[in-house]
Amino acid sequence: MEFATFADHAAAIEAESAETEIVAAVVDLFTIAGDDLATVARFVQGRVFPAYDSRTLDIGPRLCYEAIARAAGHNVDADDVEQRLADRGEIGAVAASYEFGGQQGLGSFTDSGTDGMTVAEVNDRLSELAAAEGDGSQATKVDTLFGLFNRSCPEEARYLARLVLEEMRIGVGEGAVRDATAAAFDVPVEAVERALQVSNDCGSVATVAREHGESGLAGITLEIGRPVKAMLAQAGTVTDALADWDRAAVEWKYDGARVQVHYDGETVRLFSRNMEDVTDPLPEVVETIETTIDRPVILDGEVVAVDDDGDPLPFQAVLRRFRRKHDVAQAREAIAVRFHAFDCLHVAGTDLLDVPLQRRRERLDGLFPDDSDIVSACWTSDEPDRIAEIEQAALDAGHEGIMLKDPESTYTPGKRGKRWRKRKPDVETLDCVVTGAEWGEGRRANVLGTFELSVRTDGGDGYATVGNVATGITDAELESLTERLEPLVTAEDGQSVTLSPEVVFEVGYEEIQTSSAYESGYALRFPRFLAVRDDAGPSDTDSLERVERLAQSQ
Ligand code: AMP
Repeated sequence: MEFATFADHAAAIEAESAETEIVAAVVDLFTIAGDDLATVARFVQGRVFPAYDSRTLDIGPRLCYEAIARAAGHNVDADDVEQRLADRGEIGAVAASYEFGGQQGLGSFTDSGTDGMTVAEVNDRLSELAAAEGDGSQATKVDTLFGLFNRSCPEEARYLARLVLEEMRIGVGEGAVRDATAAAFDVPVEAVERALQVSNDCGSVATVAREHGESGLAGITLEIGRPVKAMLAQAGTVTDALADWDRAAVEWKYDGARVQVHYDGETVRLFSRNMEDVTDPLPEVVETIETTIDRPVILDGEVVAVDDDGDPLPFQAVLRRFRRKHDVAQAREAIAVRFHAFDCLHVAGTDLLDVPLQRRRERLDGLFPDDSDIVSACWTSDEPDRIAEIEQAALDAGHEGIMLKDPESTYTPGKRGKRWRKRKPDVETLDCVVTGAEWGEGRRANVLGTFELSVRTDGGDGYATVGNVATGITDAELESLTERLEPLVTAEDGQSVTLSPEVVFEVGYEEIQTSSAYESGYALRFPRFLAVRDDAGPSDTDSLERVERLAQSQ
């Protein structure tokens, strides 16, 4: 497929606002995608790689502006591009506003004004670009991008720019791709949903649906080395859990970072909740698995930092280990970590996603020697007093609280359902994505000081503001946050900047009030910064729906 054809379809999709019309337009695109179906299914969501794949393009806005500027001609520089961005508000519109291709290589341009760049070529170039590393990789990236922009007509440039900055924003989320796959290839939506959960790859699911139908989708299994999304929990109470299930599986809630273990019998790979490969920073977890388990497995659990007595350290300590790329041995000396397994998704060729939690826990226990402390304890109880005792023991041991799980529940990757409930004694916190900031004043003129917080809106594609946070942040944290956020600036207006939504803050607050001051219709009262959620991405941000629920439950 020509990239120009993809761009035309993307424009047609963008012109629709109703979900059913969007899905219908995606169906049209899928129907003519031919060999490029897998790529198109990703591109339409603004992804180049499957969701399980931790490769990223790693193209900052500035780098993209440079490539656009170079393709736009001699008298354009990245600042001009930024200026147009401030006027037009969106990088696609900026890219489409230039005449590209005037510089070189006009040779084989067709009537449509392009030289027939294909979807496959764009995909190949971007994949090569993602692989560039080390000295000179930035220059290579600009060169590659320039090459692509230089061959683009305005409509192609619009969607290319958005694709490389991962801001497609044509209203197509995972749900639309799921529904379009089902409709285009006449397979049940549930079969597509299930295959997506297991494989985390909308491209291959669409292709299998087209080539092999429902039975093909049913044949998609977990693969060791290909992470799945973690099953998530909702906040909940013991009373509700017992009312719904009669009895609950009760586990300690560890305050660490989620880790999925993939072991093929020889090699261990570890993945974070964002499905990033975190094997290298956590060698002791690798050793633990290699020395205790004798068959291929996929496990779910939490890595917790511990002090010399083995008592848990706060969540931030484990993040320091997660982020560490160099001097891992030294970091290991400074902060020890321990892995607690609480679920088992696969053992030696058998997927366990559809097996009830109780049975999965039995399989998990069977993997480790009886005296092992790796498997987290789990009690099944129907007595609120007993559950309160377990909770107190968890808190006394320095943990965060307890998890309540439906003993009959299957494992549903990526779902934040009611089958797992977290009960924390503290007031709830919110995970908000940072969408803007303000430069400080006086002594703090060089650092970003006040951060605009947003939550996810319904489709999962957009964000709405809920407040600003400036409290609870140390000077050192302000500095490192500034370093981290500055490359994400997409527009500046006086002291205020707009940020691409990437960094997630955990914030505490006293109360949620209704308010017309913010887009969400709610405002956090006395918000305070607690931590950067390095283990979470923008899609893990709490939803407006949760804010509404929290506001109502106050
Ligand atoms: P939260 O991050 O507050 O939404 O709480 C859910 C997280 O708690 C999960 O994603 C896990 O990382 C963590 N967690 C700690 N202990 C457990 C447990 N026993 N079962 C499930 N999740 C747990």
